[in-house]
Amino acid sequence: MYRVMVLFGGRSGEHEVSLASARSVIAGLERAGHEVVPVGITREGRWLAGGDPLRELEASAGGKDGTSGPPTLAAHRPPAEIGSVDVVFPVLHGPYGEDGTIQGLLELAGVPYVGAGVLASAVGMDKITMKKVFAHHGLPQVRWVELTRKRWRGCRKEALRELEEELGFPCFVKPSNLGSSVGISRATDPEGLAAALDAAAELDRRIIVEAGVEAREIEVSVLGNEDPEVSVPGEIVVRRGEFYDYEAKYSEGGMELRVPAGIPEETAAEIRRTARIAYEAIDAAGMARVDFFLERGTDRVLLNEINTIPGFTATSVYSRLWEASGLPYERLLERLVELALERHAGKR
Ligand code: ATP
Ligand code: MG
Ligand code: MG
Ligand code: MG
Repeated sequence: MYRVMVLFGGRSGEHEVSLASARSVIAGLERAGHEVVPVGITREGRWLAGGDPLRELEASAGGKDGTSGPPTLAAHRPPAEIGSVDVVFPVLHGPYGEDGTIQGLLELAGVPYVGAGVLASAVGMDKITMKKVFAHHGLPQVRWVELTRKRWRGCRKEALRELEEELGFPCFVKPSNLGSSVGISRATDPEGLAAALDAAAELDRRIIVEAGVEAREIEVSVLGNEDPEVSVPGEIVVRRGEFYDYEAKYSEGGMELRVPAGIPEETAAEIRRTARIAYEAIDAAGMARVDFFLERGTDRVLLNEINTIPGFTATSVYSRLWEASGLPYERLLERLVELALERHAGKR
């Protein structure tokens, strides 16, 4: 039996997704006999402990916590309970949670925590850097171009011309640091591309534009520290909209997960091998979900991205792929806590 601090909410556009993940994780840990210390983080970055912070955040969905200005260390700090828990389970998605910032704080506090460390979290969150690291390992990816908000706002015409020349249409525009498809648009012409770049520039200083591929989408779950295991691959079938956007991800019936994916054995093996290389390339630990494209027509496997804190309800892709691989939700949570403790012990 462990005392586990579960962190949820947070300052990113994935705040709500985090609350849903946390509800499942807390229930699962309690069923497994652990004592849970729930700690919420508001959209403004204020830490809430004691009482029922999950209910509080759910009730204020979309609302503000009454504070203004950026969080300061004095006003927004972890509760004293952080000194008395065995392990912290950050169930935070997106910036200020999945990107190494919380992980850095936990390193400084000397507390074991579930999932990737500072480096892997930061690299996994920043799509531009992630793609450069993957390219170094020779992993197959779509063509892409990076640009800054400043460059886009400063020379729109030139940037549009260059992107059209290098990538053509359709293309996908993404804030470099986000998740859950927040801020991602598919552009099919220069006007659409300009609008997509404006939208992404609102959310991040760094923007990535990728050549669009016609593809099936395959995902695998990875679990482990030094010698990670990879789950059976699952296929995402989008039921609503033109790509796997926020709506498809989180609305009832928006997507269907087929497990195992109906793909040839060699393709599944290639995907699992590539996922493991991607995981090790960023020095991930604990868990990650790796997303792939299987290009229609050519059957080429392309690595899309890695997520170091994937959606984590009992019915999320990450857990369902483990369930199908013989590891039920509660055992998965147990394993993650063990891996966090092992990793912490190995640092000394
Ligand atoms: P997650 O919730 O998995 O963290 P994310 O916000 O990091 O998602 P991506 O996985 O990069 O975003 O992209 C979201 C979706 O957009 C993909 O699952 C796919 O449907 C579509 N997509 C993204 N890039 C491309 C591309 N280059 N070609 C075709 N479709 C794409
Ligand atoms: Mg992602
Ligand atoms: Mg993500
Ligand atoms: Mg993805």
